[in-house]
Amino acid sequence: MIITPITTKLFQQKIDFKNNLSDYSVYRSPVNTSQPAKDVFLASSNIAFNGKPDFIRKIVRSKKDFKDLAVKKQIPCLYCGRKLSYNDGMVDKWKEQGLFSGSVETFVKTITPYKESLHKTEAEVFKIFEYYAKTNPAQKMDSIIKVLSVHSNKELLKAQKPIFDALIKTSKGLPVENQYKLFELIQKSHYRLKRIPHIEEFSGKETSYKIKKLAKTVSNLKSADKIKRLAALLTVPELKERNTPLDASIIERIKNNIYTNSDIENLHIGVTTHHARKKLYSAILLAIRYEAEKTKRNDIVKLCQEGEKCLQGMPIIGKFSNKSFLYDLEEALEGCNNKNLIIKLHKIAEKLPSSEDNIHAFITKHDNASSETIAVNMLDPSKVTIEHMNPRYYIKLAVSKNNQKSSTQPTYVPDFITDWAISCKRCNNTRQHYDMNEYFKNFDKNNAPNYWKEIISLANEGYFLPEDVKGMLEVFKGQCNIKIDSSALKNSDSI
Ligand SMILES: [Zn+2]
Repeated sequence: MIITPITTKLFQQKIDFKNNLSDYSVYRSPVNTSQPAKDVFLASSNIAFNGKPDFIRKIVRSKKDFKDLAVKKQIPCLYCGRKLSYNDGMVDKWKEQGLFSGSVETFVKTITPYKESLHKTEAEVFKIFEYYAKTNPAQKMDSIIKVLSVHSNKELLKAQKPIFDALIKTSKGLPVENQYKLFELIQKSHYRLKRIPHIEEFSGKETSYKIKKLAKTVSNLKSADKIKRLAALLTVPELKERNTPLDASIIERIKNNIYTNSDIENLHIGVTTHHARKKLYSAILLAIRYEAEKTKRNDIVKLCQEGEKCLQGMPIIGKFSNKSFLYDLEEALEGCNNKNLIIKLHKIAEKLPSSEDNIHAFITKHDNASSETIAVNMLDPSKVTIEHMNPRYYIKLAVSKNNQKSSTQPTYVPDFITDWAISCKRCNNTRQHYDMNEYFKNFDKNNAPNYWKEIISLANEGYFLPEDVKGMLEVFKGQCNIKIDSSALKNSDSI
């Protein structure tokens, strides 16, 4: 038998490359410079006697190809080892078809084939839904969660108590002012968790974080952008610093971004700075609210109203979240120079049960959420994503002209196929730029070898160019010291 090199095989098939450009930017692999950086197809090794291939396989050349293949072949996550079986598009489609907002039975029926992909806490919630699908199939998920939240809220409080106690105990070494702020924060958390109306000081940072998070799901991109930009103004440091007078440039910056500035126009800056700050915050919130109303986003409108109430000193029923707590903690510790104590307090606070690792926290978080949000949040962490083994980062390019103006322009590091690996969304988000060796300590040591076994076997079946997989293994080796046996990988000549 004559072994034909892969490239010859490709051209024998006369594939129309022009019509197969992928929908993602594809960069050429640095290892293999001779291959076209377009979608290519490869006949399997099972060439039938009449010379025609039995079936044609699409070689992974774009992120979309890789993600599609992951779903089709249930490629496990590089880190947690979960078999991944659905992607963004599938979840969007289920949502559009109304499968999330109907009965619990419909949801369970839709998700059952994919339930093995769910993360631990989300799988526990799914088990509850399975139970309801049998016993009370017409019920909606939001009402189930609402009923369960009464018990879950109590359980969550119980689980949080020792952590709050430890924080108070450790805070004794803090300066009195920080100690007081921390105590106030724990008190506020307690009110929030028990849903007791209380007066809260307005936090630009927290409100901005919450609004920006919701803005991500605003479907009108222009509005989403505007809301994000406005929310960013809430964190302008000068607005928070009580002792620094507001200067005109800050006012100008805010004025340029909002529509209704008649109130700001009349401000006597520097005379009543506290009053001025409140007005500026209010004006930003009003502008966000206006934009949110246009896109019918009541959740964002509600946040703006809540912020306004805080500014007016009116009681609110806030919602506890770990992320907000960590932000607030950072603020409560501002001005303290004892770095070790700050780190210690943060480490304790990070132990607070979260909706990722505690079913009661998940249920409490969603006690007022729509069925759609519950479903999306359950499925989201296990969606297939492309992990960049070599984390992408910005290179700042300093551009200066005649020494007059110097600006920095961010640019992406080239995105090579050899950098890509399959990971679930949660593992991908959690890793970010962390050292891969350190990150792998959180998982079973067989996960990475199993992942590569799968990729090598798919490469041998013709789903990848062997050069690309070799390159991927090189990048992996450069990132961590887990040994991978790649002897099974056939090179292009032997396919
Ligand atoms: Zn994972």
